Amino acid sequence: MQELCFGMVSQEVILLQKALQRQNYYLGEIDGKFLNLTYEALKRFQKEHYLVVDGLVKESTWKVLEPYIEEIKDDNKKVIQTDQEYSIKQLKKDVQKLKYRYPFLQIEAIGFSVLQNPIYGIQLGWGKKEVFYTASIHANEWITSLMLMKWLEEMCESYVQEKLLDGYDVHAILKETTIYLVPMCNPDGVDVVTGNIAKNSKAYEMVQKIAKEYPEIPFPMGWKANIEGIDLNLQFPAGWKQAKKIKFEQGIISPAPRDFVGNSSLCAVEAQALYHFTRLHDFRLILAYHTQGKEIYWQFQNYAPKEAFEIGKCFEKVSGYTLSDVPYASSFAGYKDWFLQEYQRPGYTIEAGIGKSPLPLSQFDEIYKDNLGILLLGTSL
Ligand SMILES: [Zn+2]
Repeated sequence: MQELCFGMVSQEVILLQKALQRQNYYLGEIDGKFLNLTYEALKRFQKEHYLVVDGLVKESTWKVLEPYIEEIKDDNKKVIQTDQEYSIKQLKKDVQKLKYRYPFLQIEAIGFSVLQNPIYGIQLGWGKKEVFYTASIHANEWITSLMLMKWLEEMCESYVQEKLLDGYDVHAILKETTIYLVPMCNPDGVDVVTGNIAKNSKAYEMVQKIAKEYPEIPFPMGWKANIEGIDLNLQFPAGWKQAKKIKFEQGIISPAPRDFVGNSSLCAVEAQALYHFTRLHDFRLILAYHTQGKEIYWQFQNYAPKEAFEIGKCFEKVSGYTLSDVPYASSFAGYKDWFLQEYQRPGYTIEAGIGKSPLPLSQFDEIYKDNLGILLLGTSL
């Protein structure tokens, strides 16, 4: 890179200004002119990065600025790439990049998985009304994580560019509503399915042992549970005992790739994280994303409020999915079941896409298109 000094006017000065602006050193205009504001900002940057404070951009300073400049060059590229399988490693990178590009996002770990992976909770918006969307509570349904992350990016982009998203005014939404996302409730499980757990690790040995007990379920593709073989969507205190009875009768009495209820409700750390996070908030509506079936489940034991059916009908209309009652054998102890029982507010399980989970990435665009209306409408009710 070219050496820069006071008084210069160039494209490189623009890069310098943008890099300093990203880190809140430079608050002036991005005009490519190396004048006082740029000079002072640069000196502050140099001081805090233990560089020689000379107000010159030589190789040593360029080097420290490099990661920021790489980011600026990437500005026009989408962060969320929807042509690759997901993993917690990729989600971590995506979360960092989005936070960097959209500093108004609030990101925290609402808990940690068995393998100590963060269960990310992302907050977007400033409104009084709170809504909550989750994905990948079931491992082989990871395509739903990608869907929520792409939506998050599109929301942020529409917000900063002040443009409509599918006809919605994102500024108005975020003023009224705070959106919470947990895009990957079961990070360890996702990594099992997408082959991101080291084959020589203890964890992999453990899941393989469990999978061998259930040879009829393909491994790793059929894996839905957390890494301990507990089905996280059968962990919630809403008819947990009925769920246990049903699943035990089906022969699932020990850790399994799917359908094992655990030794008690909320015994899995991932389920606990979701439970406590929900308790800390006042969610007006929740969406729990699963695959597959193109169906929307809205009821649990008549706990759903009257409006839940009407809202479900609107979701049906914007997505083309079918509003349905849950089949009896899977109608207990799910996250949305507990939410309905506890709060009597609208809560939905959405079975995105069609086919056999894990759904292929070739379905991604269609899934996103079908669900965009639900995701947006959910924030605006
Ligand atoms: Zn599921």
